[in-house]
Amino acid sequence: MEPNSIQLTSFTFPHEAQQAVSYLAANEIFCTLKDEMTVTVHPFYSNAIGGVKIMVTPLDFEKGKQLLIQGGYIQENSMKTEMKKFPTDTKCPFCQSENIDKKRTPGIMTIILYITLGALFPVLKSNMICYECNKSWKFRTISST
Ligand SMILES: [Zn+2]
Repeated sequence: MEPNSIQLTSFTFPHEAQQAVSYLAANEIFCTLKDEMTVTVHPFYSNAIGGVKIMVTPLDFEKGKQLLIQGGYIQENSMKTEMKKFPTDTKCPFCQSENIDKKRTPGIMTIILYITLGALFPVLKSNMICYECNKSWKFRTISST
């Protein structure tokens, strides 16, 4: 990978990114994938880490972007959307404590919701728990559309 390569765009699923890479390569844009393995092994992390990223050199950025828009791989306005980051400064909504963590053992209802809703909506839900007041709640990371 070029040391100064920059992110052209990102895809939630590795196969989408690979199609875009093939399309770019056919149009003589050299690019590389970043975080592909992470997403392949942990699909639920895809939204959290920003998906599979397509990296290009700055010289190829504009041409690559136009090619992906023309090819229908990305929408023009999606380039303006900032990558959602995994919130790290979340506080407990009940007692404002920062002594919180992700719940390690999701209940069966949570798993069912993941499977049913997760297939319909591009939403990553996490159960958070507060160690101060022992309340739990959900936060959502909505993927950019
Ligand atoms: Zn609390």
